[in-house]
Amino acid sequence: MPQAAPRAILEDVDLDRLTGEAIELLREYLTIDTTNPPGDVSKAAGWLEGVLHDEGFETVRIGPKPEKPNVIATLDGAGGKPLVLAHHMDVVPAVAADWSVEPFGGILRDGFVWGRGALDMKGFGVLTMLCAFALKRSGTPLARPLRLLATADEEVGGIDGAKWLAEHHLDEAGGELLLTEGAFARAGPRTTYYAVQVAEKGVSTAKLTARGQPGHASSPRDDNAVVRIGRAVARIGSYRSPPAARELARRYLEGFPPQTLRLERGRRVADLSDVELEELIATLSGGSRIQHMLRNTFSPTMVHAGLGQNVIPPACEAFVDCRTVPGVTQEALLAELAGVIDDGEVQLELVKSSVGTESPATGELMDAIRAAVAAERPGAIVVPYLTPGGTDCKHFRPLGMVCYGHIPFELDDSEAERIHGVDERVSVENLERGLRVLLRIVAELCADGS
Ligand SMILES: [Zn+2]
Repeated sequence: MPQAAPRAILEDVDLDRLTGEAIELLREYLTIDTTNPPGDVSKAAGWLEGVLHDEGFETVRIGPKPEKPNVIATLDGAGGKPLVLAHHMDVVPAVAADWSVEPFGGILRDGFVWGRGALDMKGFGVLTMLCAFALKRSGTPLARPLRLLATADEEVGGIDGAKWLAEHHLDEAGGELLLTEGAFARAGPRTTYYAVQVAEKGVSTAKLTARGQPGHASSPRDDNAVVRIGRAVARIGSYRSPPAARELARRYLEGFPPQTLRLERGRRVADLSDVELEELIATLSGGSRIQHMLRNTFSPTMVHAGLGQNVIPPACEAFVDCRTVPGVTQEALLAELAGVIDDGEVQLELVKSSVGTESPATGELMDAIRAAVAAERPGAIVVPYLTPGGTDCKHFRPLGMVCYGHIPFELDDSEAERIHGVDERVSVENLERGLRVLLRIVAELCADGS
């Protein structure tokens, strides 16, 4: 009976009922304030466990601190390591006065479920649970275990969440493949594309310190620390790192039909020289969104100095946000920055650092996503993507897991801007279609088709 099972599950599923459950569960979930900081997710974890227990799942609750638990539930399969569907329970702060609805009210209005975390990423978390429920309810034997993972602390780097799990409980929390946040589908006027985050940049903060002889401002000094840092910051500001990650940008653009890129007839992205590739990206309407895929970036963000308006201070420091493409080590980052600053009197150190990570852009997880999108959204394309920010993937990729970031919600710019912004919401249409896409991905990878 080849390939019968995945399709059978999809045919048996009552999608209207499942979508209704998704809406109600999400509304409840959004009323639990998991703002980080402080990032207390104990109540959310308890709620998730309750929902899972009601459905007959056993749960594991582990974490380094009582207020930072992580929740795991696994649906057993015949063999192999699990497919992990992961989401983080914490959310970024919301200033209620700026919102047109209560951010933790779980409001359903105008065809949307509103609330902090609707997109980032309690909405996806609810869909992952419903996929597991659908599989369990169907009674279909699984060829591969399906694991649900809810993490704490993602919004502040995952120290007590995914990082802690990866370091201490990989057997219980990990698997072979992992799907979580990282990119959404974009509904454009010319093309609808499902971007799949296969790589993310390293995120580091460099601290620059200059020291000089303090003194009265009426006697200017050559070793004024403020001037020294000012010079360094100006150099960083006007610096552009050489392209380092053309391959990812190329693979991303290759997914689009050549005519949508306004390439000359008969030309393909693969034919472009490196210079032409950069020129092409500069001309694209979404160019700024993909510029970062090419190179490391450096943004000075903070400068501290000063004791009084007429005092030359003994020291001045600055902080620089650094985003590095996969493959760039911390040593290489420091060397690049030192070269730009070109001043041996400015001390340089990394006060926070993670390196970029990357999973192969081909394989069974990508195949399953492509098949699901082709079935549910004919004409839409699937493209591998590199993000400038980090997700929980960064903790699992170095341990050999294939991790992708993709939430199958189709967003336009105005909806996407609400993530970490004001009036975050997810449409019922996206919940319904997202559920169908995710269900297909899961059925393809876990249902026993033999
Ligand atoms: Zn997130």
